[in-house]
Amino acid sequence: MELNAFTNLLTETQVFIGFDRDGTLVPYADHPDEALLDECVKLQLEKLSLLPNVTVSIISARSIAQLGRDMLGSADRMILAGNYGLEISFPDHSEFLHPDAIRLKKTLRKLKVELFKKLPQLGSVIIEDHGLSLCVHYHRCEGLERRDIITAVSAFAKLYPDLTFINLPTSFEIMPANNWNKGSALDIIESKIGFDDEPWKLLYFGDSVSDEPAFQWINNRGGISVRIGDAKVTESSLQMKSCSDLIGLLNMAIK
Ligand SMILES: [Mg+2]
Repeated sequence: MELNAFTNLLTETQVFIGFDRDGTLVPYADHPDEALLDECVKLQLEKLSLLPNVTVSIISARSIAQLGRDMLGSADRMILAGNYGLEISFPDHSEFLHPDAIRLKKTLRKLKVELFKKLPQLGSVIIEDHGLSLCVHYHRCEGLERRDIITAVSAFAKLYPDLTFINLPTSFEIMPANNWNKGSALDIIESKIGFDDEPWKLLYFGDSVSDEPAFQWINNRGGISVRIGDAKVTESSLQMKSCSDLIGLLNMAIK
């Protein structure tokens, strides 16, 4: 996305800007705990959220608690959608929590215990608990180790029909089997904000397959969707090479 297009957009009457977190605002790290939001990026997001015509939202696989820690001090000016939007907090302190996420919390805990018993014996996996979803990262595993992890997690999928196990290039995302995605999260945000009531301009930045439903959602409403990275196939209307390009754009546009 070009600087001029972005700065022009910021002058519109009402602007919604959604950001994915990992791979979009924060470069990936070997361990998810090491992927921290840079203080300069945090400052730019804070400034963005202070513009009276701009609504900022972070829509991530991570929990609202984590997103709140990232944005400490300005979190209550943003819409934070954690666990793919199964949980959403709004600036007026209202919250959305998907009933399936509540119903399946115990099931997810049980699975987590079983994954911790089984997987570390097979390879150097990282099991991340986001509260309403789990993520099994296996980017550190190669060859047979990787095959064993995929086989083991796939076997668990058969035992837990109420959960969906989404196999991404180097991870499994595990969440309620209700076809929920970031587009669904945007539906909830729209029902709260009512994008139709005013001439809203919509913009969304993401970097992965899990952002594609958000790109489609934004495109369907005449907005601009931007995928970070060099994906060959994407629904996004624009692409940017890397997180640092996006961060550079924010730095140049927001003084
Ligand atoms: Mg991402």
